[in-house]
Amino acid sequence: MADCVFCKIIAGEIPSNKIYEDETVYAFYDIQPEAPVHFLVVPKQHISGPSAVHEDNCAVVGHIYAVISHLAQELGLSNGYRVVTNCGNDGGQTVPHLHFHVLGGRSLAWPPG
Ligand code: 5GP
Ligand code: ZN
Repeated sequence: MADCVFCKIIAGEIPSNKIYEDETVYAFYDIQPEAPVHFLVVPKQHISGPSAVHEDNCAVVGHIYAVISHLAQELGLSNGYRVVTNCGNDGGQTVPHLHFHVLGGRSLAWPPG
């Protein structure tokens, strides 16, 4: 998708600190970390956000959770972590390409503001 920052990262047109990649997903560290460990997992297919997930493209979401579980273990998040997906303006989504924040390495407040 032209002009999508995460599509450009996946294509290697914008550099990123990559953690993991396979046929359908890409994981990289967030440029503005909100926790000692903060990375993003995204589908390689451009899906604009949670509201664009449907029966025909939802398999990747399950795979992303399996990747998150694997990476969290690899990165030492044995004490827990948070997975966040923001949706739309009220949800605080700033990049319109579906992504899962994984935050860990400290105790996280709940509920969010
Ligand atoms: P959102 O606000 O949409 O839930 O999250 C977007 C996230 O993408 C933010 O945490 C922001 O720091 C991160 N981000 C935006 N642009 C870039 C970039 O060019 N590189 C990386 N690594 N992260 C980015
Ligand atoms: Zn995209």
